[in-house]
Amino acid sequence: MAAPGAAEQRWLQAARDFFHRALPGPDGQEPAALEAVLRCLRSAGGGTVGRGNRAFISISDLQHQQHIPCCSHLSWSTKEFKEWSHQGQGALPMQRTLPRTYLILVGYLADGRQENKEKLVDGCLYVKDNTGIIPCELLHFELDWLESLFVFPSWSYIPQRDRSSAGYLEILVDPVPVNAPKEVLHSIPVTSPVSAEPLLTSRIPCKKRSKLTVAGELTRLGPLLCVHRKTFFFLFLKCFASAVCVPVLVQKPSQLLWHRVFQLGHSYTITGLSMSSLKKSGQTMFVTSVSSCLLPYCAEQVREQPLNSASQGESTQSSSLETPEQLSCSLQLGAEEERPRPTKESKIISYVGFVTKVLNVQAGLFLLDNQVCLCLAYQPLLNSARGLRPGACVELIDVHLLQKPLVSFPFTVLGACLNSMVVLKSFSRLSTPYQPLASSGNLCLQLLFRFNLGMPLYLWLVSLLETFEERFSCFFGRRQLLSSVHQNPGAAEKFLVPLLQAMVPDREARDIYNEILSEIHQCPLQKYLTLSPPCQAPSLSAVCRVAEQKSWEGFSPSQLLSPLEAQHMGTQELNRRLAWSYCTLSAESFQPQLILQGVLRVSSRSSSLQLQDKSSALRCVISRKDGSPFAQTALIGSLLQVENYQLVVERFLKTDFPSWEHLENPEHVREKKTSVYVQFYLEDVQVLHAAEGQIQKGLRSGNSSSLRNKKDGSTTSELETPEAKMLKLEDSKADTGRDENCQGGQSSPRTTGCVSHLFLVTQKEGLMSRNYQLPAEGDKEKNELQCSFQATVLWLGRSQLWSHPREIGNLSELEETGCDEKEGVTQQEALLLFMGKSLRWFPFLHVDGLYRFTVPCCSDLQVFYKLCSPPVPAAFLSRPSCPLCLLVQDSWHLQHETWISCLPEHQLTALSVLTGMDQRTASIPEVLSSSFTGSLVSFCGEIVERTLCASPRNEKPPGHPKQRGTLLSRDHSVKLSVSAAPGSPVVMDIYITATYLHYLWGLLPGAKILFQNLERKISRFHNVYCTYNASSCVSILSLPASHLPFSSSPAGEASPPSLVLLSSLRPQLQNLAQARILCHLSCVLTVCLQWICSICSCIFKEGRCTRHNPPCPSQTGVRQASARVLVEDGTGEAVVLCRNEHVAAVLGLSLLEWEAVQNCVQSRGSVCIQHGEAPGTGCLEKPEDLVTCYLRSLCRSPLICRPILLDFSLDRKPSKIQQPAPLPLRNFHCGEVEFVSRVGPRPTLLCLKVEEVGQDALRYLNSQRMSRTSSSC
Ligand SMILES: [Zn+2]
Ligand SMILES: [Zn+2]
Repeated sequence: MAAPGAAEQRWLQAARDFFHRALPGPDGQEPAALEAVLRCLRSAGGGTVGRGNRAFISISDLQHQQHIPCCSHLSWSTKEFKEWSHQGQGALPMQRTLPRTYLILVGYLADGRQENKEKLVDGCLYVKDNTGIIPCELLHFELDWLESLFVFPSWSYIPQRDRSSAGYLEILVDPVPVNAPKEVLHSIPVTSPVSAEPLLTSRIPCKKRSKLTVAGELTRLGPLLCVHRKTFFFLFLKCFASAVCVPVLVQKPSQLLWHRVFQLGHSYTITGLSMSSLKKSGQTMFVTSVSSCLLPYCAEQVREQPLNSASQGESTQSSSLETPEQLSCSLQLGAEEERPRPTKESKIISYVGFVTKVLNVQAGLFLLDNQVCLCLAYQPLLNSARGLRPGACVELIDVHLLQKPLVSFPFTVLGACLNSMVVLKSFSRLSTPYQPLASSGNLCLQLLFRFNLGMPLYLWLVSLLETFEERFSCFFGRRQLLSSVHQNPGAAEKFLVPLLQAMVPDREARDIYNEILSEIHQCPLQKYLTLSPPCQAPSLSAVCRVAEQKSWEGFSPSQLLSPLEAQHMGTQELNRRLAWSYCTLSAESFQPQLILQGVLRVSSRSSSLQLQDKSSALRCVISRKDGSPFAQTALIGSLLQVENYQLVVERFLKTDFPSWEHLENPEHVREKKTSVYVQFYLEDVQVLHAAEGQIQKGLRSGNSSSLRNKKDGSTTSELETPEAKMLKLEDSKADTGRDENCQGGQSSPRTTGCVSHLFLVTQKEGLMSRNYQLPAEGDKEKNELQCSFQATVLWLGRSQLWSHPREIGNLSELEETGCDEKEGVTQQEALLLFMGKSLRWFPFLHVDGLYRFTVPCCSDLQVFYKLCSPPVPAAFLSRPSCPLCLLVQDSWHLQHETWISCLPEHQLTALSVLTGMDQRTASIPEVLSSSFTGSLVSFCGEIVERTLCASPRNEKPPGHPKQRGTLLSRDHSVKLSVSAAPGSPVVMDIYITATYLHYLWGLLPGAKILFQNLERKISRFHNVYCTYNASSCVSILSLPASHLPFSSSPAGEASPPSLVLLSSLRPQLQNLAQARILCHLSCVLTVCLQWICSICSCIFKEGRCTRHNPPCPSQTGVRQASARVLVEDGTGEAVVLCRNEHVAAVLGLSLLEWEAVQNCVQSRGSVCIQHGEAPGTGCLEKPEDLVTCYLRSLCRSPLICRPILLDFSLDRKPSKIQQPAPLPLRNFHCGEVEFVSRVGPRPTLLCLKVEEVGQDALRYLNSQRMSRTSSSC
């Protein structure tokens, strides 16, 4: 063990070394200061106690070695330290206090003048030694401390979180000068202060030379301001024996430190002042000169002169100092009577409180005492908000109190304007981090000043920006989002500026001088209106949550069904009809209006387009207004904003309602699920931030997207940033384990060049699980089906080599294609197979599109052929007939060039010769016609109705049994009724099994869809319908019109169907959706009323199901009715099938009568009668049965035979018996007159609606019909 003396020696030696390094004397001599410092330490730090574990620290070591906040108190005992830290925890008991270190800090106080010539002297203070300089904050400062050497007995070091910049020091206790203070020989002025105020008010021109001295009590100290790179501040002195205040402008760099010296209520003398006035307002004030001195006021040295000014009307608003308790009291009072006033006036108060949270330092928002928000945005914080850490105590003087400026902002706000003072009363004793305020590039503050925003708008702006940053900075980085470079505004600005422009159309510039000097206070914080945000842009997870919530709001199963229909449905049908419904929401459906933003991505797992933010992803369907498909590969990775969209919530219900009577009972809802997606037009998209790493040329080609041009002239050109980092395009959650490196580039793997090949898509098939194997896949997944799709393409021209992706040029291959037809290579069909990551191209690839594959980092022109499977022998390469099958590699990049329809004529003809393209898309009437021959059909149409039905029993749904993501039961299929044109009566039915629906989005009533490669089928009843199969594909051409009421009911209220004649039905017998006839009801052929078991459909009698083997447990019966009636309209006859409520209408029964009749049937199970049968001959009914008698007499009554208006559709399942060629003759009676007429076969109609016709209406309709008939003859 070393002797105490030795330890002491070692310590002294270390101290000496430290002084050599950090505080060398002049000319590198032994620093004379060491002895003085030791002496100083001894007096300050209690002798040599604990000297052993104390060490000097240089500024540079502090900055580079100390990474957590710490404090040092030389003279304190442990007990003292504990007490100190305990007191500091008052406001924030959960926070740790600053850890104590035993470091000795010695250095000079400086104002940074010599250190950095470039930097403005801005009133900041620094501690420096030979190794470095560090900003510091003091609570008390004397001017003569500058450039003196100090020992700092008590200080905290607060490192900055971001390692790139240094932290700062909080000087807790006045520093101890090492040497005796320099004898500052203030030449004490003998000049007396003049009566300052009259000088200022009377505009006596000042003699240039005369410098004045003014003395007074400091009543107000303005903040340090920096305007046009000039830093200055104002102070206000109250002259003695008067309440008059005079403003003094301090603007010389060497005087800026005065700002730290001034203390409110103290008296000062300032010499060397001259008078000046503001050009704009003419306000006069004193201005310091270079020779000005700041002196403490000593009454003995100054003779007071009474001011003869009588202007006593002092303007400073009286303010009271409020404690937190008082404030919360007055807040509660205020909250009650807050509502009705439109414009509120903010109250000016003073307040002392602790910072408890930094809400948003860039926006200048701090939480005080956990209850009130301090906003410093209106008062520039030139010291980067140093010292404003949680735990610090601030005094606010003359700040504006704003209650509830923004509906969504939880706190009352204290706003400091240029008239307010914010004084740091004590430093935080807690180990809370320091967040520096960025003075440059601070978007919040920039926009605040640019638009001169009031507090409500500012807080709203801040909240929008916070959310925006939170959502997207993980994609682009904070700086990319917020920064704006010259004319090129950043994403955040593109988002916010239009909103602000709309909110503040006529903004006035802020007049800071007036704000500081005006006698009547004027500032942006005085008056305010509680703002209800006009719009919002929440995270996608919040969007989905709210949309789901809205979709169930006020939802009841009964609203999906018309009660008339529902009461006749069996359990199965009833629950199936409830299983799938949807609702659509637009921006206006949300309060406030919802702006949708997200980064466009493609998921290679679901092959769907998505908008993405940090919180979630939202599937999207993008269409184009001109009906061409969306193929904008360049938009992948871009940040998009849409304000015009349809948010679709598909609702999936698992229910077990026994019958309609139970619909209001929520117990029968077993499961509720939703799936949300959004659809919009590309034309409604605003690109906030274009993706990097795109090979972007889509805009150059003829049909480029006409993205919204913005007013500032920056059009979509930003989209063209050509930087090929194609791997960046990968789905972030893409499957792992696959080779990401360049494929096929055996010749030179490190090259930056790339090979591209142009092709035309001639056929595309839908997504589904297919029995393909990925080549690199391990054995374990051997039997897994791979989700995949394939496309048939025509290679155009030859592969081309480019030195860099950005150089990929025009469609020169096309010229080649046209001329060199003999060179077979230039036109070869290939089957492209997309699996794994390349599935992401599914939404972009469309028939008739010209695309280019680019293989990055590759120089092998044969790459596309080498990868064919099976490999193509070189000898065959030149033969056009050789079919190629090519697995699209993950690293390849797809780029849409143009559409075949956009090509100039000569290129087009060349291509169509090659493809032998004829019209591949048929019309719906063509497909329906019996002369149509194809089995795979493509056509366009608008969805009229979407219904869920049971899959035909013989068709086994394909797909993997444990398919994910399907929310519909697999034995369901959806029937789409598609019409050729809006309002057209001709419809085609398309059946899609639930397993395919997993990949299909946007199939909603009102949407126009291109169906490709559907299978055309003919039913038993000779009806044509289509089914979706493995090679089918759909693309959405246009979205449902948004003005349509997106009700949950499948059919909207349409205009009445057109009036037709029975004879005219023949030519278009097939697939007529709906029509109307005016006809005469001739007779009722059959009527059948039944009660049916809701589960097994057996007869339900007296409260029980009649099925015995096996017995049926059902408790619920459902009534059903049907009738067949004969109608004629003079041109022909038809049989009309009526069901349920239509039976009542045909029989002319009121709902009450109908109800009674049906209830009578309940005890019997069923009642059937037939036309022409004799009474009592019925098989089931008993002769005495009243219901039967009643019905029979009703049917026979001549009153039944009457004119009616009948809406119908053609029965799609008529007996297909062809009528013999000569049409039979039939007799018709009309009153006494008998006609004989030749009639065709009776069509069978399905009754959709029966309307009684009054005499007047009958006459009118008949006359109409006559005129039409005669005109058509
Ligand atoms: Zn103000
Ligand atoms: Zn049953």
